[in-house]
Amino acid sequence: METKSYTLDDVEPTYRPMIIDGEDAQAQSGRTFTRLSPAHEVEVTSFPHGGQEDVDRAVTAARTALDRGWRQSSGSERSKLLLKVADLVRRDAEALALAETLETGKPITQSRNEVAGTAELWEYAASLARNTQGDAHNALGRDTLAMVVHEPIGVVGMITPWNFPLLIISQKLPFALAAGNTAVIKPSESTSATTVMLGQLIREAGFPAGVVNIVTGDRVVGAAIAEHPGIDMISFTGSTGVGKGIASAAGRDLKKVELELGGKNPQIITPNADFTAAVDAGVFGGYFNVGQCCNSGSRLIVHRSMADEFAAAVVERAKHMRVGDPLKSDTLVGSLVNDAQLAVVERYVAEGRDAGAHLLTGGDRLDTGLNGRFFQPTVFTDVTARMSIATEEIFGPVLSVLPYDTMEEAIGIANSTSFGLSAGIWSNDINEALTAARDLRAGTVWVNRWMDGYPEVPFGGYGHSGIGRELGRQALAEFSELKTIQLQVGIRENRWVDAPDAPRR
Ligand code: NAD
Repeated sequence: METKSYTLDDVEPTYRPMIIDGEDAQAQSGRTFTRLSPAHEVEVTSFPHGGQEDVDRAVTAARTALDRGWRQSSGSERSKLLLKVADLVRRDAEALALAETLETGKPITQSRNEVAGTAELWEYAASLARNTQGDAHNALGRDTLAMVVHEPIGVVGMITPWNFPLLIISQKLPFALAAGNTAVIKPSESTSATTVMLGQLIREAGFPAGVVNIVTGDRVVGAAIAEHPGIDMISFTGSTGVGKGIASAAGRDLKKVELELGGKNPQIITPNADFTAAVDAGVFGGYFNVGQCCNSGSRLIVHRSMADEFAAAVVERAKHMRVGDPLKSDTLVGSLVNDAQLAVVERYVAEGRDAGAHLLTGGDRLDTGLNGRFFQPTVFTDVTARMSIATEEIFGPVLSVLPYDTMEEAIGIANSTSFGLSAGIWSNDINEALTAARDLRAGTVWVNRWMDGYPEVPFGGYGHSGIGRELGRQALAEFSELKTIQLQVGIRENRWVDAPDAPRR
C-alpha cells in the first residue's frame, strides 16, 4: 500500500457533477455547493445542489433501468460487473483515499485502509450475486411442489452519513445490486466526493445506464427520496433522530426500511482481562476517527478494583497518538468533521463537568498549528449511568469510565441505554465471556477485541440503533422480496364445487 504524505500543494479544487441515467448531471436549479477541508479550511470540492426535480429524474431512470432488463439480469452478469468495480476501486485507490481525507479530515493512512475494505465489500457482494437460490418444498403432498424464490425489491433509495462515506455506501449498494435492484443515492453533503467517484467507476465498469443514480445535496434531497412514491425501499445510515423521521416518511407509503443508526457502545473490562490489550482497545474505541464512529466504545465499564489504574493507563497510552494533519501518513487521528460537531463535543464536555464527573484529561480544543477542528483526547471518570455523557452519542473523542462491582451490575449498566449497536467483553475466563456475550443487548458483541468487521458477518443494531442488517448473506435477503410459487403436479382432483356432470376437458 502507498505510504506517501501530501501537502496542500497537491490539492486541486474539483467540481463533481451528479450521475443520473448514466450521464453527468447538473441540478435543474443550477445551484452548486462547496466543501472545505475541515482540517485546513481550503476549498476541495463542489457539487450540484440537487432538489426534488433531480430526485424525480433519478427515480425515473432507476425504474426504467429496472424494468428494461436489470431485474432479469443473471447472477453471473451482476457478479462480473461487481468484480469489475472492485478492480477499478483498487486501480484508483490513491485518488479515492485523498478525496476521502480532504472531505472528512481523517488520516490518509486510514482512508487507504477504508478504500481497501471497500474493494473487499464489492468482491464479496459479487460472490452473493451468484448465490441467490431459494428453497424447494417436496413434501407437501403428491400433487404439490412449492418453490420460494428471491426477487429484487425494486428501486432502493440510499441515504448516507459523513463519517465513513465510501465504506458505508459500499455496505449497501453492491448488495442491493447483487439482488437485482436499482438505486438512487444521496451522500452526505459534507462528504459526497468518493460516492460520486464510485458512481463514475460503476459507469466505467459497464453497468447499464440508470441502474445507479447519485443526487448530491442536503436534507431536502434526503426527504425527497424518503417520501418518493417511485421508491420501494429506503436504506439509511445516520443519526437516530433523522432515522426516525425517515422511517415515518417511508411508513406513510409502506416502503420497506433498513436503518443503521447511532450507538453508545459499552466495553466491559473485567479483572480477568488482558489488561494491556484492553487499554489499547479502550483508546482505539474512543479515539479512532476522532470518536466519530457509530461503533465507538465510548463507555468503559471497568471493575472498581482496577478502574483508576485502567483510566490512568488509557490517558498514558493516548499521549502516544499522533493527532494532526490528516495529509501526513504517520498521523493517527485527524480533525472533527465540522464546526457543528465541535460544538456538540464541547457541549457534552460541559454537561459532564456540570453533572459531577471528573475530567481526568483533555476537554478542550487542540492546537495543531492548522486551521482545523482538533480536540484533545478526553477521559471522564466517576461517571454514573444516567449522566448524558453516559447515555447519549457524543460522536467525539470523549471516553467515560463507569466502575462496577458485580457482573450483573456491569451488564445492567451496559444494557441501560436505548441503543444496542455493539458491545465488548474483556475476560480470559471463557464462561464469563460467553455468558456476557449472550446477555449484552447489541447487534454485535466483541470478545477480547474491538471494532473489526468483515463483509461476511452481518452488522446492525437493536433498539434505537436500527432496523435490519447489512453485510453477510443476510444482506441479500434484506434487499430481496420473497415469492412463493406453488405448482400443481398432475390433475387437480379436489374440486371446490361438487359438479359431477361437468365434462372433463
Ligand atoms: P445525519 O443523520 O445528520 O445525516 C445522515 C444523512 O441524512 C445525510 O446524508 C443527511 O444529509 C441526511 N439527512 C439529514 N436530515 C435529513 C432529513 N430530515 N430527511 C432526509 N435526509 C436527511 O447523520 P450524520 O451526522 O451524517 O452521521 C452521523 C450519524 O450517523 C451518527 O449518529 C452515527 O452513529 C450514525 N452512523 C451509524 C452507522 C451504523 O452503521 N449504525 C454508521 C455510521 C454512522
